[in-house]
Amino acid sequence: MKIWITRPMTAAVEARARADFDVEIRDSTVPLNEAEMLRALRDFDVVVPTLGDLFSAEVFAKAGAPRCKLLANFGVGYNHIDVTAAQTAGVAVTNTPGAVTDATADIAMTLILMSARRAGEGERLVRAGQWQGWHPTQMLGLHVTGKRLGIVGMGRIGQAIARRCHYGFGMDVAYVARSDKQLEFPAQRAGSLTELAGKVDFLVVAVPGGAETRHLINADVLEAMQPSAHVINIARGEVVEQAALISALQTGQIGGAGLDVYEFEPDVPQALKDLQNVTLLPHLGTATEEVRSGMGAMALDNVAAFAAGAALPNPV
Ligand code: NAP
Repeated sequence: MKIWITRPMTAAVEARARADFDVEIRDSTVPLNEAEMLRALRDFDVVVPTLGDLFSAEVFAKAGAPRCKLLANFGVGYNHIDVTAAQTAGVAVTNTPGAVTDATADIAMTLILMSARRAGEGERLVRAGQWQGWHPTQMLGLHVTGKRLGIVGMGRIGQAIARRCHYGFGMDVAYVARSDKQLEFPAQRAGSLTELAGKVDFLVVAVPGGAETRHLINADVLEAMQPSAHVINIARGEVVEQAALISALQTGQIGGAGLDVYEFEPDVPQALKDLQNVTLLPHLGTATEEVRSGMGAMALDNVAAFAAGAALPNPV
């Protein structure tokens, strides 16, 4: 059985992959191009793809009857794979839920705090040698403790963020999701996204990407927000309409934003870079050695189950 891992992985993941499987590990860190995706489907039994490897319906159509029978995605988000087209072509898809939850919630906290307390702007000031010393009205930001939090998508990561904000920062939590949640902390389900947007200090986006959630956070949602409120996006770039967000930040319609992901990633528009009231991270959600090794272990567990003819642990 031939396996293709489409990016270099942590040493622990590469060592296990080489010990357990007949594996080829691609040494490029950029997404597969179309020719490589066709090779993936035609020349390998299992592929471990990740973010940016765009296995679209067109790619499956061009590949014909694929040799590949499993895309064991490295990551919980799989909006880069057309799952219906994959299944129609006889290709199963798995992902790595859970392994990413705490690290991504931690990055959401980083962004909430950085955005509210103007940490990026302050850091730039110090590095530029322009800091003139402490004074009572220097760089006043938004107080975080005790504020109102709105979670858009109360799944694993949304709940981990809410838990941190409730227990750690004494915040009032409200949310929107497709279904009611049984939660161990107090949280109100809002009637609509615009209602939620209107009443919170931090609107945190934690829904999966894909056609269903594209531009969920649009001009209407941003317009409903208070001028002091912040948008935090740790989900997928296309969930927030980037042009509308830039305009809301430029006009002061909202107080700020913290972004880990971008609509046309890795392109970050100059208009965003020019703004002081936005914190820009390079998709760091799961970027720790332990977590990336945990994600790799989970992806390889799915490969191992497939090789053994057992049930896949994490089908999507
Ligand atoms: P999850 O457990 O499946 O949670 C997703 C939540 O979104 C669910 O509560 C779901 O509601 C809700 N939802 C889906 N569509 C919705 C809609 N149209 N309106 C409102 N709510 C909706 O997934 P997760 O593990 O928390 O991960 C969430 C996403 O985070 C991933 O898909 C991935 O794209 C992203 N992510 C980013 C990073 C990063 O590096 N920045 C890292 C990891 C994950 P129901 O429960 O009612 O269905």
